[in-house]
Amino acid sequence: MREICGYTVEEYIHLIESFHGYLAPGLLIGGFMIDEATRELPEGEIFDAICETRVCLPDAVQILTPCTVGNGWLKIFDFGRFAVTVFQKNTGDGLRVFVDAQKLAQWGEIDGWFLKKTARKEQNTELLIEQIKQADTTILSRQKVRIKEEHLKKQKTGAVGICPICGESYPTRDGEMCRSCAGGCPYVMLADKE
Ligand SMILES: [Zn+2]
Repeated sequence: MREICGYTVEEYIHLIESFHGYLAPGLLIGGFMIDEATRELPEGEIFDAICETRVCLPDAVQILTPCTVGNGWLKIFDFGRFAVTVFQKNTGDGLRVFVDAQKLAQWGEIDGWFLKKTARKEQNTELLIEQIKQADTTILSRQKVRIKEEHLKKQKTGAVGICPICGESYPTRDGEMCRSCAGGCPYVMLADKE
């Protein structure tokens, strides 16, 4: 039976639903991608991952591998490309797997959804999921890559100071005040702190 990183497809679908909230088609494709990208790694190999989109794919990496945004082993370069690279931490050698737009033609529902040709309300989600299962890795392409030196080093936080405006700690490399007080704050204060 087809397995995705040791889970049956149905088990993986359950994991998607509990982690992501619902069965997103991109996460199902992501499972096949990550299985493909990791299957030739030696057992016990420590690896990092890069996603080239922040949509769906990072959750597939976090469900199926030890790499998370929080532990820093998963990085996101938001190029809007549905691609994942898995690479060895020490050498930077890795495998990049992506949905190949050239290979979608025979899968009408996937093609319409992936390239946004089909309006949301005309999408047949059941058929889409079925086609993704059938297509398996045939809609993917892969290429060997080597991660650039500057992206292999662990990003250090550096010195920490107290922001003169909010009084909270922040990395001093950001300047005289924290980035929130410098104008990046996404909310307004409704009350004083308590
Ligand atoms: Zn501040």
